[in-house]
Amino acid sequence: MKTFEELESAVRSYSRGWPTVFEKAKGYRLWDTAGKEYIDFFAGAGALNYGHNNADMQQKLIEYIERDGILHSLDMGTTPRKEFLEKFQEIILKPRELDYKIMFPGPTGTNTVESALKIARKVTQRQTVISFTNAFHGMTIGSLSVTGNSFKRKGAGIPLNHSVSMPFDQFMENQETLAYLESYLEESGSGLDLPAAVILETVQGEGGINAARIEWLQKVEEICRRFDILLIVDDVQAGCGRTGTFFSFEPAGIKPDIVCLSKSIGGAGLPMAITLIKPEYDQWEPGEHNGTFRGNNLAFITATEALNYWVTDDFSNHIHERAAELKAAIQSIIENYPELNGEARGRGLMQGIAVNVEGLATKICSEAFERGLIVETSGPKDEVVKFLPPLMIDEEGLSKGLCILEDSIKEVLK
Ligand code: PMP
Repeated sequence: MKTFEELESAVRSYSRGWPTVFEKAKGYRLWDTAGKEYIDFFAGAGALNYGHNNADMQQKLIEYIERDGILHSLDMGTTPRKEFLEKFQEIILKPRELDYKIMFPGPTGTNTVESALKIARKVTQRQTVISFTNAFHGMTIGSLSVTGNSFKRKGAGIPLNHSVSMPFDQFMENQETLAYLESYLEESGSGLDLPAAVILETVQGEGGINAARIEWLQKVEEICRRFDILLIVDDVQAGCGRTGTFFSFEPAGIKPDIVCLSKSIGGAGLPMAITLIKPEYDQWEPGEHNGTFRGNNLAFITATEALNYWVTDDFSNHIHERAAELKAAIQSIIENYPELNGEARGRGLMQGIAVNVEGLATKICSEAFERGLIVETSGPKDEVVKFLPPLMIDEEGLSKGLCILEDSIKEVLK
């Protein structure tokens, strides 16, 4: 029989960074086959905001399967789909006075971004889409063309066309990054020469936990309106409560033309994505964008259950409390370990420490794994230790994880 290392040597996967076989998980904890416990500060890259094996979601799934509920149904009407649509309108869109058409573009984050890029081009009849430095929007040709990571772009093997990258907020020292955008648009002329859309993450997840300022987001929206360009917010990672509100753009009071959601929209880590489109831009004929796995009924069940967290402000308040604890801990680590040359980043429970010493962030994450904490790097040079715990984590879990982190930092700085 092959050893784990032999098997994994033929596979390209996360298992290289976290070399063990995980067996079970609950809430913010995972266990491997040796029974070792790990605290999860990764949360399935943001797909597990409500934790592993949430008891209510688990119960609903079991009941549904036991009564022979339909599993696969493309985009047909089913009870779980109907219930999700009703609740999403009632709990999420209506109270926020948001009017969107909802479409299911396919199972993943990349699928929702791809659909957003297509619809923006179709309704404007223009080609170019503006994106930002260090943005991450997905791995297919279209979504990769608006992704700022040059290493990932090289994976396509061809030039990626019809996109223009602009400096993201705070990425041009002593310069107003939006002046750059405005002058580009002024020079683009008018009508069909203009870009179709601007796409952005309010907090760049893969790009290094770079949080745009509220005023910056408001100004981007104003510029989009002035030049008649669509604004797409990719809330695949920053959405579903990650930054403290259901949509990450809520504090800015902006109303994007298109919103991309995936990862935690499914509630329990099941594949699901939705694209929200302002009604006037819902111009696809039936069949112009389809796909086999658009209506995962198990995901609709857990997604509907997840919406219950948003009926009151309790969950939001809980996230803000944990976020403040995390922020304070990060601040004290930066002060206590000047060797890290660290910088605090992020918003809500999407935070990080940029470690300005080459290779050190990766070493910290490896050491943390040995000590029972799952934490990942992000940023163009893997320079950021990124904290993405499940949002339901309690004070004890957060502080336990942070203790492991601090011990790991001490060890690698020895
Ligand atoms: N957009 C953002 C902001 C993301 O963080 C990701 C995934 N990290 C994607 C799109 C792509 O999602 P998926 O991996 O599910 O295709």
